[in-house]
Amino acid sequence: MFIDNDQIEKLLPMSECIEVMQALFLLNAETDIVNPLRTTMPLHNDSHGIMGMMPAYIRPYEVMGIKVLSIFPDNYKKGLSSHQGVIHLYETRTGQLMTSLDADGITGIRTAAVSALATKHLAIPNAKTLCILGSGVQARKHIEAMLEIRDIEKITLWSLNKSSAERLAGDMEQYKEIDFKVCDTVREAAIDADIICTVTAATEPILENAYLKPHVHINAVGACTATTRELASEIINTSDVFVDNRVSAANEAGELLLPAKENGHDALDFVKADMSELLKDSSLYDASKKTVFKSLGIASEDLAAGLLCYTKLKG
Ligand code: NDP
Repeated sequence: MFIDNDQIEKLLPMSECIEVMQALFLLNAETDIVNPLRTTMPLHNDSHGIMGMMPAYIRPYEVMGIKVLSIFPDNYKKGLSSHQGVIHLYETRTGQLMTSLDADGITGIRTAAVSALATKHLAIPNAKTLCILGSGVQARKHIEAMLEIRDIEKITLWSLNKSSAERLAGDMEQYKEIDFKVCDTVREAAIDADIICTVTAATEPILENAYLKPHVHINAVGACTATTRELASEIINTSDVFVDNRVSAANEAGELLLPAKENGHDALDFVKADMSELLKDSSLYDASKKTVFKSLGIASEDLAAGLLCYTKLKG
């Protein structure tokens, strides 16, 4: 059985995926989930392409698997997805392959669903303004996900090429009650936002501390390697920082590793809690602080989302 992107869109509504991610992070991270650090193979050619291999095992769900992904960051300019690949799910009694799924569809939805979960616990309850920096696959999915979590009235959009943000705004016709504003600068987009999602392929900081409201919540999703980041160091230095997974953060989050290097700290010194801890302890949220959720994406998220699609399709 192969489950393609069109099927995934139908089988994995955002609201259900948020619930699946919540259930996953409520499992015991120590005993229930094995999430080895992903292996990446940079091609070091003009394509800037990377091959990524992300295995995981979720013991209570009796599923193991791997996401095999090619990441070609310049693809969006050619109208191609920057994240292409396959997720293979195996059952863990006899090791048989259950299904394979398109990684593109699952990655888009599960990443935004996890950001939504972070936002549910870290954004002010009456958040009304959302800022989206970037205009690709993740931008679209993050708009959908944030609207599941808060009663957003206004969305400000910024993209490196203004025409991309205008295209995104034009595609959002179904949200008639929301005021979409395309902005010329990151500052203009961020300055009034209660929630900001950075979903770009930027490698250097695009978001500065001076642009932020004191209580803002940021989902920092874009930069997923040790040498790239979207946020200025001052944001990390002055915010409560949460991550999806500490081991990934210590190895892959330039967002934390680069400011840590400047300060002579360890990247994990910035981390207040991981998602599992946040879901289990509401006292970790301090309404007086800015909050950052640094998302890197872990393979157990892909497996849990893929398993829901498989279970539904199998009936
Ligand atoms: P797309 O290829 O669909 O979109 C890329 C976006 O990045 C475009 O909006 C583009 O803007 C923008 N962009 C490109 N270069 C720059 C730059 N130098 N500065 C600012 N913006 C830039 O990508 P996705 O939406 O799929 O992914 C976005 C990011 O999220 C990527 O970095 C990806 O690796 C990461 N990601 C993270 C995941 C996680 O789990 N944390 C999962 C999946 C993706 P424009 O069109 O205006 O040029």
